[in-house]
Amino acid sequence: MPTRPAPAALMTTPRHLLDELIAEGLSQTDQDKKTAVIYLELRHLHPGHYRERLLELMLTRLHSVVRTGDYLFQLDSHSALLLLNQLSGVSHAMLAAHRAQQVLMDAPTDEQRLYPQIGIALAPDHGSDGETLIDAAKIAAHQFAHEHIGIYDPDRDWLGQQLARLEAPLREALQQNKFHLAFQPKIELASQQVTGLEVLLRWENELLGSISPYEIISVAEHLGLMDRLSQWVIQTALRNFAQLRQHGYTGSLGINLAPNNLRDPHLAGFISNALAVWGVPAEKVIFEITESAVIEEFDMALRQLEHIKDMGCQLALDDFGTGYSSLSYLKRLPIDELKIDRSFIMHLTEQEDDRAIVESIIELAHRLRLQVTAEGVEQAAEKALLEQYHCDVIQGFFYSKPLILSDMITYLQQQRAAR
Ligand code: C2E
Ligand code: CA
Ligand code: CA
Repeated sequence: MPTRPAPAALMTTPRHLLDELIAEGLSQTDQDKKTAVIYLELRHLHPGHYRERLLELMLTRLHSVVRTGDYLFQLDSHSALLLLNQLSGVSHAMLAAHRAQQVLMDAPTDEQRLYPQIGIALAPDHGSDGETLIDAAKIAAHQFAHEHIGIYDPDRDWLGQQLARLEAPLREALQQNKFHLAFQPKIELASQQVTGLEVLLRWENELLGSISPYEIISVAEHLGLMDRLSQWVIQTALRNFAQLRQHGYTGSLGINLAPNNLRDPHLAGFISNALAVWGVPAEKVIFEITESAVIEEFDMALRQLEHIKDMGCQLALDDFGTGYSSLSYLKRLPIDELKIDRSFIMHLTEQEDDRAIVESIIELAHRLRLQVTAEGVEQAAEKALLEQYHCDVIQGFFYSKPLILSDMITYLQQQRAAR
């Protein structure tokens, strides 16, 4: 039920009632004033009883920021909505959102601290009916990083556009195994041999053409399909790896994991099972993770990674240098390899700063006894510089684009013949 500063009932507000109230608010708002819809979602979802209790806590605390003329609603089991009328501008909505964030995060114990994702939509700017405004505020909440309050920006509603385009085809592709994998070689500079391969997801849709893994993954994560998709990747990658080994390949195989995967309690078990099924040695399999995947829930991610390490697999930190607190994580994560992000390699020949960064990363990694791979090497001049800095391994179009399995088998045969 909607509440003017009255006790919040733990009951979802019917959508039509919300729409009516928003419409009423809009009709009563002066020409030069705005109405704001602030969407607040609890991030860490806990099952059943506990979640209800957190939501109750959220609503109780939010009451302190509700003023006469404002409304507070419960939207569903993990979100609430603030409706503010007669605002003089966006800064007022921002202020209210900050106050809401503060009362939710302010608590004597860690357990009572709530971390909401918050999004704002304004009328008339972003819509003039309840449904449009609530959707826009939701999108804004999901568009930005945590602890950040988002204001709806239609140009940034990339995910909304992608979901509309890809949801049905993606579900179908998962059901009918319509994805495939590509393999990109990693070349060890000292021996000039292919010592590793990275496996990359590919999807060609009859109508939509080829869809990038970034698009696939963001949509799959949003739809809660990432675990299934990754299971398919791991299963297929290890099966193909066994085939490559039958053709004489003795190097390693890198498999990417998405941030969501580290939250899947079945991940380690699944990997161990797949390794046994395909009879590939665990120590030849490298799981690639990004810093952002571990930052959010570090302890849990660390436990997962330790499970994977205990099985004998290796770990690589991907896209290194693009995250936040790279150095402190380097020390605490059980990783074997560091992959320098392509963004540092791209300008290596023309930018002094990037050369200094890359050289220092390589030196630091070696001191920590990590192997270093440079990603996205396209030119001989980049390769020469990396050689000079004692980089261990190089991956990039300079050697080869990602290839489908049969082409990779041929590529490896040619490499061996040339030796
Ligand atoms: P990534 O893990 O950093 O993978 C390397 C990306 O760089 C690949 O893009 C590869 O095709 C591209 N690349 C390699 N060498 C060069 C080069 O010399 N120049 C340029 N311009 N690009 C190069 P791709 O295949 O589009 O994948 C993009 C990202 O999607 C990957 O980045 C990875 O984060 C993610 N991804 C791909 N496959 C999977 C998967 O199976 N699971 C998960 N979770 N993520 C995946
Ligand atoms: Ca990777
Ligand atoms: Ca990468």
